Amino acid sequence: MKFTTNYKENNYEIIVEYGALNLNYDFTQYDKRIALIDEHVYGLHSVAIESFIKQHHIEKMLIPFGEQVKTSAHYIKFTEQILTKRVTRNSCLFAIGGGATGDFTGFIAATVLRGIHFIQIPTTILAHDASIGGKTGINATTGKNLIGAFKRPDKVIYDLNFLKTLSQTEKLSGFAEIIKHVILSSTGNINESKSLLQLMNDIPDKHALSHLNEIERWITFGIKTKMQVILEDEFENGIRKHLNFGHTFGHAIEFHHKLPHGVAVLHGIIFALILSDAEKSDLTIVLTWMKRLGLQRLNFEEFNIYNKLMQNDKKNEASHINFVVYNALTGFHIRQFEGVQLQQTFEMLRKLEG
Ligand code: NAD
Ligand code: ZN
Repeated sequence: MKFTTNYKENNYEIIVEYGALNLNYDFTQYDKRIALIDEHVYGLHSVAIESFIKQHHIEKMLIPFGEQVKTSAHYIKFTEQILTKRVTRNSCLFAIGGGATGDFTGFIAATVLRGIHFIQIPTTILAHDASIGGKTGINATTGKNLIGAFKRPDKVIYDLNFLKTLSQTEKLSGFAEIIKHVILSSTGNINESKSLLQLMNDIPDKHALSHLNEIERWITFGIKTKMQVILEDEFENGIRKHLNFGHTFGHAIEFHHKLPHGVAVLHGIIFALILSDAEKSDLTIVLTWMKRLGLQRLNFEEFNIYNKLMQNDKKNEASHINFVVYNALTGFHIRQFEGVQLQQTFEMLRKLEG
């Protein structure tokens, strides 16, 4: 499936299908073409990747796999290497990998020569989220994604063949953002809203997810939901903040327990729903989805560890912590909470997850 973003200008094409890498593309407008490729993804898909980069005369640069690449040290190292290749503002970087590769490569593209071109080739389910909306960045020692820039790609080429080699945990992690998009689409903020109960039957179980059943439909759904939000608020002055639903607590446990991003976000969504005083029935529905998808309970530690990390979250002002909360009727809102309320929520989450 092919579709185009509908910003006022500078729109780009998003192609989502099995075999998308083999379609006809013309990249000759870029004077230098360099692909930053997750080394692990390269190992698994070298034949398809080599054929793509040879055909389009793209130079290859393997980068450390996954989240570990998103450091300032790697940023400097690879940026310097790219600069030695005499890139110009007409050059293009291709990001082949998951969300981490996309964030990292996009941030380099945003900052080298104050901005060069950039094409996303996502290889995880989660990257349906990361590759849309133009947020790029790396981690700081004090927390995730604290150094970054907004940068739209020129194109997103989503070849679903990549997804076949994802581990079950990575599939679950990727589906977390789809769950978030489902919850977003169930409120009045987004068109065609359906209640969570109506959406309930559609969510796959662990088995269906492992076979990637209907994954094209889900990825397209996630992208379209996210795009609707981005269209209204590209630079996160308002409604885009709602996409952080589940992420404040999620980022804290992701950072501390080194969990896959989406797995952490699933726990974060439950935390945010409790904090929202969500209807018990909605909470039950969401918990059922997550268990059906195979989410396992986490061995939580002391609340203070997470609280400290949440204080560093970039969405906060002063001593309060901002959270995106959900209301079945009125949609999403930003509210400030203090330590005591958060600690109570944390204890409830612990009990609920058993
Ligand atoms: P990732 O890039 O770390 O990939 C997860 C793991 O899967 C890595 O070990 C990677 O090597 C491996 N992998 C990737 N593709 C594979 C494949 N086809 N087969 C087998 N293994 C494969 O992370 P992710 O889960 O895709 O994304 C998470 C990252 O995205 C986080 O850094 C998060 O902050 C970021 N993110 C950004 C945005 C945004 O708007 N920019 C949104 C959501 C998430
Ligand atoms: Zn996320």
